[in-house]
Amino acid sequence: MTRREKAQELVESLPDDIGASVDDIEDSLDQLVDEFNVPIEEAVRSTRSKYMGDYDGDGEVTSSGPSSAQDEDVNIGDLTVDHDEEWMNIQGTVQQLFELSEKQTSWISQRGVIGDDTGTTIFTTPKEAVEEDPDLELEKGQTYKLQGVVGDAHRGNIGVKITSTTSGSTLDNAFTPPDNDTHLTGCIVDIQEGSGLIKRCPEDDCTYIVTNGNCQQHGSVEGDFDLRLKTIIDDGEQPHQVFFGREATEVLTGVSLDDAITIAEDAVDTGAVADEMEDMLLGRYYSIAGNKVGEYVIVNEFERVNRDWASEARELLDSFSGTDEVAA
Ligand SMILES: [Zn+2]
Repeated sequence: MTRREKAQELVESLPDDIGASVDDIEDSLDQLVDEFNVPIEEAVRSTRSKYMGDYDGDGEVTSSGPSSAQDEDVNIGDLTVDHDEEWMNIQGTVQQLFELSEKQTSWISQRGVIGDDTGTTIFTTPKEAVEEDPDLELEKGQTYKLQGVVGDAHRGNIGVKITSTTSGSTLDNAFTPPDNDTHLTGCIVDIQEGSGLIKRCPEDDCTYIVTNGNCQQHGSVEGDFDLRLKTIIDDGEQPHQVFFGREATEVLTGVSLDDAITIAEDAVDTGAVADEMEDMLLGRYYSIAGNKVGEYVIVNEFERVNRDWASEARELLDSFSGTDEVAA
């Protein structure tokens, strides 16, 4: 829908005696979108409330100055779930692009991690946004100023959504997000699907996992072996999705990539690697330092915690002593 059509639609939805012309409304939309970089949907909302707010019910429009609506500049590290559905501007360097599942590719063009000096977050770009503005297809390692992204809270985490009205421009600087913004200690309670020995598409910049010899984007490809673990670690308060990359997985399990390939070949099943790792890791305790990225903690450092169950049990019993009057 063109801006003029949006203006027409908005005029029709306003009370007749408000006396707003399509030209007036279109001017207001032009100003909000072009001068203040407000996304079109937000511009429509803002324009509607400007007219309705000024409308006192007897045909008088009491004022019609330009709205000063403008998106807020937000440091990525300051994002909280309170920013859900808020329009804002961010600047950041693309740290990572995720491989997408088949289901996701039906509507998502890109999903990845963007970070500035204060933190990182997940961004999601729907297909329609890139179809309308190919410049919204982001490159790994490149820094962008993104005006008019929307906060997108999901399971207690906040990410940002790029929309077809987001404007993106490249910047020359590169941001380095802080290391290890998350620390937790807990028990590995699950190893999730997509863990162990995997194959990545060998094409440049392709982030897809090769399944049954096929990349979603490049079709039949050979694929390069890689190792990773997607674990659930419970710290006693809540489960965390904790992601170990290849190096961390090798140190954690003592299984190198070559070892893993041998295990898979011997078993004639790449799933054998994940099975073996699961047997080894479930129930173990670790202290983790890493970066919170959307729903995931990406591990940078970790240490095995050997829990002394006997002394913990003694301490627990001690904490009850003196209250146990009935048995005494
Ligand atoms: Zn590919």
